[in-house]
Amino acid sequence: MYRTHDCGELRLGDVSREVTLAGWVQSIRKFGSISFIDLRDRYGITQLLIGEALNEYLTETPLGREFVIQATGIVSERSNKNLQIPTGEIEIKVSRFTILNKSATPPFTIQDDTDGGDDLRMKYRYLDLRRNEVKKNLELRYAVNRAARDYLHQQKFMDIETPFLIKSTPEGARDFVVPSRMNPGQFYALPQSPQTFKQLLMVSGYDRYYQVVKCFRDEDLRADRQPEFTQIDCEMSFIEQDDILRMFEGLIKFIFKQVKGIDYTESVERMSWEDAMWNYGNDKPDIRFDMKITNIKSPLKRNGALEAEGQIIGHANFNVFDQAETILAISIPAAAAWTRKQFDAWTDWVKRPQIGMQGLVYIRYNEDGTIKSSVDKFYNEERLAAIAGFCEAKKGDAILILAGREEKTRKAISELRLEMGEQMGLRNKDEFKLLWVLDFPLFEYSEEDNRWVARHHPFTAPKPDQIAVMINNDPAIRRAEQYLEHPYAGIKANAYDMVLNGNEIGGGSIRIYQRELQEKMFDALGMTREEANHKFGFLLGAFEYGAPPHGGIAFGFDRLCAILGGSESIRDFIAFPKNNSGRDVMLDAPSTIDDKQLNELSIEIKA
Ligand code: ASP
Repeated sequence: MYRTHDCGELRLGDVSREVTLAGWVQSIRKFGSISFIDLRDRYGITQLLIGEALNEYLTETPLGREFVIQATGIVSERSNKNLQIPTGEIEIKVSRFTILNKSATPPFTIQDDTDGGDDLRMKYRYLDLRRNEVKKNLELRYAVNRAARDYLHQQKFMDIETPFLIKSTPEGARDFVVPSRMNPGQFYALPQSPQTFKQLLMVSGYDRYYQVVKCFRDEDLRADRQPEFTQIDCEMSFIEQDDILRMFEGLIKFIFKQVKGIDYTESVERMSWEDAMWNYGNDKPDIRFDMKITNIKSPLKRNGALEAEGQIIGHANFNVFDQAETILAISIPAAAAWTRKQFDAWTDWVKRPQIGMQGLVYIRYNEDGTIKSSVDKFYNEERLAAIAGFCEAKKGDAILILAGREEKTRKAISELRLEMGEQMGLRNKDEFKLLWVLDFPLFEYSEEDNRWVARHHPFTAPKPDQIAVMINNDPAIRRAEQYLEHPYAGIKANAYDMVLNGNEIGGGSIRIYQRELQEKMFDALGMTREEANHKFGFLLGAFEYGAPPHGGIAFGFDRLCAILGGSESIRDFIAFPKNNSGRDVMLDAPSTIDDKQLNELSIEIKA
């Protein structure tokens, strides 16, 4: 037997027992004729006391960090207790020990605050994984996984595996492809998600499906994306949107309880996509704090009504505003008292290349009711007061204003709001705030592909009251190039995202389940019938054999873990992640393959 106990479990109550432990040498400290070894395993650290007799042996047979040893001895009360660790009141007076395996000197210290940089730790990920910090993350990941499975099992969901080698149907992200040796010149694709399979399972009658599953997307990796990532993927039949929202806020609340001990009893707020964009400047608002954005001149329609251009801001021979496509303002509590320097610092902040604005205008709504601004030359106090009123600013607030192109300005002010929240300490990592964002547009224009795409994916159903618009209209829209020219541009999807603290943690939709509507959808995306049949014939076919109404959702498992763990980075929660260029630096993958393999696959590499 290698061990009687692990390195985290012995306490004062075990004193006088003879035990055997096995683990890694964390540190060795010599004091004259005795030595102390901190022995570590997955469960903790226990101090070993090597007395005089064995110490000589130690001198002859040097022991190094990360050696794997086995030690037998008597549990004793420590005179010098360490109350920081659970085993800190005892030590093992070792009577014999064995070196089970040696270790080269590790390239970085296996400690919480390691001296290893990112690249080094990724290269030696198996050593990095020994560190407590990383282990805690994987433990949390496992806890989330188990909680999700427990909940879904209780709710009668069935875990059904779906294939990884599937057909390439590029829609959304780029597919990773796998050449088929047995079918020269043909390729499988790795699934971007099991979307069509879970829908087929609904057609097959498995009315509650889930899977904790790998998904593969060949995207340019912006910060904190992984080419392979994990989803908690779910689908249900005979449901409406409200059933899904309730079922899955239940899931997240259950995870909160199991993993963090948090009773999230309040109901989850629901917000339309339009309200999210309008009030927060993005579709995943962090609602832990308020500070809404106000549009003080905008061509954007809201609830069908055009904000009266010029009424709020007016023309004032101030070119920046007069010529701006949009002007967005945010009222910052108690900021009227800021110094000039503070306003300048925020001006510099919005001018940074990542934000890319030309400048920032501010209005001080002073405690004494006076109003001063950085554009006093152009706007009199009355006009400024109107703006302050429109922004619902209170005495003592300052209003920060950005102007420019619609999309850029919206993004910038949304970033400004988040950064402001951060600096004002309003984004507390231990506070969790869930939100449903609903009623997304069904379509969006992709600048990159220069065409209309499904905002979510092409299987998402329109809102029930808009289905008729799609069924009855002949979409002469295949080549529509301008946003407003697309007859379906205003159609809303029966889709929902779950947002946690400003992060999208899950998204899904009610699906199309009739062949006719699905074909209309493909039409609207500019797909010919032949193309649609070639790519999705199996699904269209299945819809002819009694497809039930259905819908589902998928949660980004890695991200959910990262947020629950209070981290920005999903990599920290993946055992073997890839770096930002999609490389596994430990395996050195991707890599070339030899000519024999290429020949077998009938593939030639272009020089
Ligand atoms: N398959 C979708 C996705 O990966 C999620 C869903 O609609 O259920 O985004």
